[in-house]
Amino acid sequence: MTVLPITILDELRATVQGRTWFPGDSEFDEVHRPWNRAVGQNVLAVVEAADVTDVVTLVNWARERSLPIATQPTGHGATGRADDTILLRTTRLDRIDVTPAQRTATIGAGVKSGELQRAAAEHGLTGLPGSSPVVTVAGVALGGGLSWFGRSFGWVGDSIRAFDVVDADGRARRVSATDDPDLFWALRGGGSELAIVTGLEVGLQAAPDVFGGRVLWSGDHARQVAEVFRTMTHTVPEGLTLWLELLHFPGSEPMVAIDSTYLGGGEEARELMRPLETLPTPLSDTRAQMSVAELGAITAEPTDPGVGSSRAELLTSLDDDTLDTLLDSPIDPLLSVQVRHLGGALAQPTDNPHGALDEPYSVYMFGLPVTEAAAESIEQKQADLARALPASGRKPVTFLNPHEGLADALPEESLTRLRRLKEERDPGRVFRGNFSIAD
Ligand SMILES: Cc1cc2nc3c(=O)[nH]c(=O)nc-3n(C[C@H](O)[C@H](O)[C@H](O)COP(=O)(O)OP(=O)(O)OC[C@H]3O[C@@H](n4cnc5c(N)ncnc54)[C@H](O)[C@@H]3O)c2cc1C
Repeated sequence: MTVLPITILDELRATVQGRTWFPGDSEFDEVHRPWNRAVGQNVLAVVEAADVTDVVTLVNWARERSLPIATQPTGHGATGRADDTILLRTTRLDRIDVTPAQRTATIGAGVKSGELQRAAAEHGLTGLPGSSPVVTVAGVALGGGLSWFGRSFGWVGDSIRAFDVVDADGRARRVSATDDPDLFWALRGGGSELAIVTGLEVGLQAAPDVFGGRVLWSGDHARQVAEVFRTMTHTVPEGLTLWLELLHFPGSEPMVAIDSTYLGGGEEARELMRPLETLPTPLSDTRAQMSVAELGAITAEPTDPGVGSSRAELLTSLDDDTLDTLLDSPIDPLLSVQVRHLGGALAQPTDNPHGALDEPYSVYMFGLPVTEAAAESIEQKQADLARALPASGRKPVTFLNPHEGLADALPEESLTRLRRLKEERDPGRVFRGNFSIAD
């Protein structure tokens, strides 16, 4: 583990305006850790930039000393690659300005998905939120990003009209389809090793009515529920999104759920989801008209930091063999197996590093690695399931785990283009993301 001399650290503290924490400081232990506590990271220092000027100052200071910077707003996707870096927190880049007439929001890079949703909801608008309200819009967009509303509006990254960045030369500038289109392409899914994003102009969508929630059954009905889920996904319109959840929480019996959102009124939604009425009486049904600011409540994923181990795959089908693989044995030691219905606008051609997402479903296998032994058995179960499932062999960047890399997500031509951009834009390797572009 590298430790910077105290003189350099004092110099850093005197150079930036924002807060700094160094090893040995009382709060360092807490602030240097990522949201996913299963991942360790030995960083040299933590800087919470006060503003864009501070980011420029930090980039120039770090480049001149050949010290890498890892921008990590939350660490939901932490991989351990922040070792020996200056960790940059973007929390204070928290501006949110919604312009309803243009259906856009200008936001700082530290803004979380739920915060944007709250601001947009006041105007009957929505961003493209995923399941968690506490990940940053910037972090999700930089990895492409899958939203509840992806079937209607495509990748989260494609909803970004412009990025404000600080590049490796320390220049603060705007990147859009017309200003530096190469970098604009890369930032919408190609990881995050080419620039530090300080702000985003986000395209919003009209969402006067949203209906959604979770219908939960005993795990005894998993097969029936999964079959109805599959049948419904063959016909539902793009505005209705369904996720199948196999759940086994500690101390409780296995359960199965269908989570849903519908961009429209409750009556239409209930009509479209009428096949659920043929299923046994559920344990609970939270479906209701809701604000787009409340979407995080549907899956109620943890918002506080904790340990997590995930593995995702994109599935080419959900045929009978696939259902057998998912349902024939208990999901233990996993906590949840989530099958998302994709398709719609996500399957349309698009000029970003992922391109069209042809696979109609994704599966996300999640467990709590509370001990080393638990971590091993969770990974074994994930690997066993992945081997037996009809996985396409690639996955969205935002769903990569610490054992994977961009080559598991992006086509070869995108990787080649990203490597060239890294060489051109950041030859000194100032920027370190969760996944390496250069390797
Ligand atoms: C509970 C949970 C639910 C999730 N649900 C979804 C979902 O529905 N859809 C989905 O697509 N993903 C989902 N994810 C994955 C999540 O989107 C990724 O982990 C994402 O990387 C989180 O972004 P972050 O900024 O909060 O995390 P971080 O790990 O802090 O950052 C992610 C990456 O972005 C880079 N980055 C972030 N901000 C900047 C910046 N300003 N400038 C340059 N680089 C930057 C970081 O360097 C890092 O490489 C989920 C994850 C969890 C744990």
